[in-house]
Amino acid sequence: MQEPIRIELPTIYGMKTVNAYLFLDPIPTLIDCGEKSDPSWQALQDQLKEHGLQIKDIQRIIITHAHVDHIGMAGKIAAHSDAEVWVNEYCYPWAVQKEQMWDRRVQLMSKLLPPAASFKDIILAFMKEVSKHWDNIPKERIKVFPMNGQLVMGGQVWEILYVPGHANTQTCFYQAANKWLISADMILKITPTAVMDASIEDPTKRDRGLKDLLASYKKIQALDIEKVFPGHYEPFEDVQATIRYQVNRIHSRIEESFDLIKSGKQDFMDILNTMYANRVSMPAFSMLIGYLDVLLEEGRIQEVILENGKRGYTVVDAESQISLISS
Ligand SMILES: [Zn+2]
Repeated sequence: MQEPIRIELPTIYGMKTVNAYLFLDPIPTLIDCGEKSDPSWQALQDQLKEHGLQIKDIQRIIITHAHVDHIGMAGKIAAHSDAEVWVNEYCYPWAVQKEQMWDRRVQLMSKLLPPAASFKDIILAFMKEVSKHWDNIPKERIKVFPMNGQLVMGGQVWEILYVPGHANTQTCFYQAANKWLISADMILKITPTAVMDASIEDPTKRDRGLKDLLASYKKIQALDIEKVFPGHYEPFEDVQATIRYQVNRIHSRIEESFDLIKSGKQDFMDILNTMYANRVSMPAFSMLIGYLDVLLEEGRIQEVILENGKRGYTVVDAESQISLISS
């Protein structure tokens, strides 16, 4: 049985490297393809060469989700080969009209970001910069696959699993006979960030990414998996323990944010700075929004307008909670 071959490509953002996976037979196929940058292009060529291939030999690229480090170089590879680019239904708009989709995400984020000027400016400048490493893909080269179904890759049938959370466009691929999972950024050795984005059903609203992430963990936990081929870092085997650890960690961070609000920290930026001292970043921002979403949904906190006019949070009166439980 042909194991996916890991191709590690450098990234400018986030995780330092990203994995593409290569199947040699029956047709040279890449799963994901890195950011569009010169170092990434060079690294791809070098690693293909080890398998007797050049970029022009790639016949198919399959994209797991519409994030720059996974889809960015697809347009360039397509321009230098006859490769078809396979994207799922939700990735399709990102594959052909990245600019509009990107603008939509930036607009949504600028509405959500606290007006703390420097932080907002840094994030928005970052978003602008990132999109340079991503080319659109010509429509005639694209094949669309469903969010759930099957794909044949490397001569084997893989199940397509829709696993939103890190990205609302994300699919994993599961090979049942070998118990292999090509997990994209759903299952990594580190907890994936629930990256904020416009909802697919209603793009004027944002997704509840962390809630989706927790549901997607459950979906993966139900599978019999022996080896994970993740979107970043090395393949690994202890899938269930990894998931348990990450889910526990998320729940303990939710409790930490609850305790901070309970102790009187009400302002979003104040909570963010306390929980991520000196590491305030885009992922931190997205995750805290997710923790607060869960607490709001559980009815344990509520949104309030603070005296300074900013949006804040308070704990829902404990006594009324107790009386609800005991009644
Ligand atoms: Zn990634």
